[in-house]
Amino acid sequence: MVIKAFEYYAPESIKEAIDLLRQHGEKAKILAGGQSLIPIMKLGLSDFDHLIDLKRIKDMNYIKDTGKDSIVIGALAKHAEVENAPIIVEKCPLLSETAKLIGHPQIRNKGTIGGSICHCDPSADLLPTIVALDATLKVEGPTESKSFGAEEFFKDVFTTAMGPNDILTEIEVPVLPEGAGYAYQKLSMGAGDFAIVGVSTIIQVDSQRTCTSVRIVLGGVGEKPFRVRSAEEALLGKRITAEVVDEAVAHAVKEARPISDLKASAQYKKLMVATYTRRTLSAALSIAQRT
Ligand SMILES: Cc1cc2nc3c(=O)[nH]c(=O)nc-3n(C[C@H](O)[C@H](O)[C@H](O)COP(=O)(O)OP(=O)(O)OC[C@H]3O[C@@H](n4cnc5c(N)ncnc54)[C@H](O)[C@@H]3O)c2cc1C
Repeated sequence: MVIKAFEYYAPESIKEAIDLLRQHGEKAKILAGGQSLIPIMKLGLSDFDHLIDLKRIKDMNYIKDTGKDSIVIGALAKHAEVENAPIIVEKCPLLSETAKLIGHPQIRNKGTIGGSICHCDPSADLLPTIVALDATLKVEGPTESKSFGAEEFFKDVFTTAMGPNDILTEIEVPVLPEGAGYAYQKLSMGAGDFAIVGVSTIIQVDSQRTCTSVRIVLGGVGEKPFRVRSAEEALLGKRITAEVVDEAVAHAVKEARPISDLKASAQYKKLMVATYTRRTLSAALSIAQRT
């Protein structure tokens, strides 16, 4: 399909990009890594006249330790940079391991963390992990800067809490607490494909194997990633046994809201929620108990 003609802009600052957005309103679109937007354009599913490419904005691509138990990541950091940054591998390995499962190396060398978060595809790998980590998303708009917790940022299918002239500039992720176990795993059609079901789990246990904190987030089986609070409650404060895990898994299955599509039926996805919730709990627990 021939892509419709558009004006191309390459601003060098966030302010310049926001001014362009304000100037062109609904007829403008942001371009980051292009790994979702360009395929959409090629399918003829987009309608804009002005494309604002963020790539030249140097102060949106960084990964830094804040020194306050968190890491800040510029929205233009590429998936491969997130996957391989020593600070993330060391202090927030769940994020690195999730980024490693996105698409192929070509996709990870171009696609950005901010693009994936803003695109808000319910099957995207990063989304459940961003919620499990309780990341903070920083947004610049024409009149103000705003910060959103991950849970409030993701609103619906391909829909975030950002306004039309806003730009996501930074993602702040807390470092994983000492002794925390973690895992992200997904069911997909094959290597390099989106999650049919994705589960991100973080758990802490004490020396008696009693759960002191837990977050379980499902992706691909709802309009947006969501914490399964009933499953978390089934684990919290309890000594982890096979029965307690069974109960948590049953809650996850109950709360999942999959729809049937070309990849899998809703019924099969529910079964896979059970499998992947159990697997991530088991993997996270084995890390938590090692430390
Ligand atoms: C073949 C293929 C396989 C893939 N496999 C996977 C996979 O397995 N798992 C997975 O999770 N993803 C997968 N992806 C998607 C990939 O992760 C994309 O990188 C990501 O979804 C979008 O990031 P981007 O930087 O390319 O954004 P773009 O495509 O440039 O933009 C995406 C959307 O976000 C908006 N946007 C981008 N950045 C900002 C910003 N800073 N502020 C405001 N709005 C912004 C754009 O306007 C656009 O609407 C795949 C893509 C392809 C082409």
